[in-house]
Amino acid sequence: MAPVMTDQARNTRDFIELENRYGAHNYHPLDVVIERAEGVWVFDVEGKSYLDCLAAYSAVNQGHCHPRVLATLVEQARKVTLTSRAFRNSQLPLLCQDLHELTGMDMVLPMNSGAEAVETAVKAARKWGYQVKNIPDGQAEIIVCAGNFHGRTVTVVSFSSDQAYRDGFGPFTPGFRIIPFGDAQALRKAVTPNTCAFLVEPIQGEAGIVIPPDGFLREAAEICRQNGVLMMVDEIQSGLGRTGKLFAYMHEGIQPDVLIVGKALAAGFYPVSAVLASTEILGVFKPGDHGSTFGGNPLACAVARTALRVLIEEKLVERSAELGKYFLEQLRAIRSSAVKEVRGRGLWIGIELHKEARSYCEALKEQGILCKETHERVIRVAPPLVITREEIDWAMDRIRKVLI
Ligand SMILES: *Cc1c(COP(=O)(O)O)cnc(C)c1O
Repeated sequence: MAPVMTDQARNTRDFIELENRYGAHNYHPLDVVIERAEGVWVFDVEGKSYLDCLAAYSAVNQGHCHPRVLATLVEQARKVTLTSRAFRNSQLPLLCQDLHELTGMDMVLPMNSGAEAVETAVKAARKWGYQVKNIPDGQAEIIVCAGNFHGRTVTVVSFSSDQAYRDGFGPFTPGFRIIPFGDAQALRKAVTPNTCAFLVEPIQGEAGIVIPPDGFLREAAEICRQNGVLMMVDEIQSGLGRTGKLFAYMHEGIQPDVLIVGKALAAGFYPVSAVLASTEILGVFKPGDHGSTFGGNPLACAVARTALRVLIEEKLVERSAELGKYFLEQLRAIRSSAVKEVRGRGLWIGIELHKEARSYCEALKEQGILCKETHERVIRVAPPLVITREEIDWAMDRIRKVLI
């Protein structure tokens, strides 16, 4: 008997019912069913429009369905999509060159999801620790920060300080130490001769747009340099223009040893991530040590190349700095007893409330704005960087209404 594939969902309620019945419940989404999107706007199955103030956790900095990236996707899909790394393809070398030219990093190792890139960085740091720093076998340590978010694999949640990310998933990978975020003295104390790396988000996104004290990254980089420890920055969410610089570490003029990128690298069309580092570090990988069937595939690389060009040529980084400042000022001017603090950098803003943020996000949705709470009490405001001043004003009218 041929399998039956029904296709009957029509309205928001039908889709939610189906998803709740047949999909795993590992998310708690707002009840809006998106069917189509363009730039900063998304449209639900009822035809209602919303201003997207999450940008898929900063994976669509270039705006939804950017026409140039779309054209590249279609064009490349007609040529060749996947070769595997058993053979070479004509897009990967060009993406590596682009990333080198944008960051000054010697080498690129392409992966797909952010968590995979973090795993890759952890493997590179450990191998570097054994081969270059001569740490005794099996003893390498990596220092991370409390409140971190680096993804969802077992090794990555092994060093999370959030119980919800870990409960029921052990046994965990050893070899990590947690220090308070933004505390350079704690970093200095935590370093041992076996420390191979310090892994840090320049600004903690999932923790609620937490900005460390000025100078923290600079001091951390100096401590790493003095102790032969790799400074590894996870810029999967903070990078590619989100904070008003191409990468958030650039606010402090440091040069990290390892740079981890993902999310907006492919403008939301495709999962593309990468680890960038020096030849000394990525050179520890030899054929057979590490890999990925889809990592570095020609479709991913072509899309990422255009996504990077859009970011640079449309001056989205500068736009993030300028409009982010404007948005932050407007939000800070709101006088509301519900608001504890408004903080941010570029178009990455956290509104911390005295109470749960979920009901405010639901109220904003009713007003036509999509935001998502992070860590119960913070509303994250992170629209695609193509947002206009007029659209910010439009959003402000509605945010004021909900917050006051
Ligand atoms: C989203 C994110 C990740 C994980 O990326 P995935 O593509 O979801 O695996 C890692 N680090 C940071 C800082 C992130 O924001």
